[in-house]
Amino acid sequence: MVKIGIVIPAAGQGKRMGVGYNKQFLTLMGHPILAHTVRLFEECKYVNEIIIVGAVSDIPIIEDLVHRYKFNKVLAVCIGGVQRQDSVRAGVQALGTTIQRVVVHDGARPLLTLHELNRFLEETERFSAAIMGIPVKDTMKRVDISGKVLETLPREDLRAVQTPQIFDRGILEEVHQQAATVGYYGTDDATLLEWMGYPVQIVEGSQENIKVTTPDDLWLAERILAMREAQNSQ
Ligand code: C5P
Repeated sequence: MVKIGIVIPAAGQGKRMGVGYNKQFLTLMGHPILAHTVRLFEECKYVNEIIIVGAVSDIPIIEDLVHRYKFNKVLAVCIGGVQRQDSVRAGVQALGTTIQRVVVHDGARPLLTLHELNRFLEETERFSAAIMGIPVKDTMKRVDISGKVLETLPREDLRAVQTPQIFDRGILEEVHQQAATVGYYGTDDATLLEWMGYPVQIVEGSQENIKVTTPDDLWLAERILAMREAQNSQ
């Protein structure tokens, strides 16, 4: 079986949450957001190892979390960089040498389910790079810096992109290396492959796989988890 490693970037400052510390330590149903995220991969039968990337000051807290929750697949907690892309690159470098495929998943997306993750890994087996995306509900317009509308984009052609994103390790390493050499930055890892001309496949994501960024998201995430718990206990 192909050996899959997970890189979880969790080194953001979470300024939009406004709590003054890493939002990934805020709790949802009594557990830190990051613990929800890591547990998903710990429980997934396809996953061989996990690397968590944190801000330098958060490393002891993350190590303690890994220990407390007995996340045995976590191989390393490594130090992130200034931008998300720097953090992912550091995480990829920390993976064990036998890993062939890499999944990148934001620490701040704790609501992905094991069922969705398994489906994603099964559906993407035949692609060298694949990412989760969902259709956009709103009409999308491109604007200039003053807010003047330049054009309306055809909605049926658009997807809002999420993580997880999966890549053949060699390709992911190559594009990160090249991007670092010339100082190119993208807001996700797939952008780096597109930039170098590699194909990227979109597979159906989940509306509930939100990135917990603002206090509103935290409220919504708590509601979704409470709803799931109520359904499970029925
Ligand atoms: O900032 P944004 O919400 O796009 O971050 C997405 C994920 O990347 C979060 O889990 C965040 O902690 C992580 N990140 C990181 N290193 C950075 C910036 C963000 O690991 N320098």
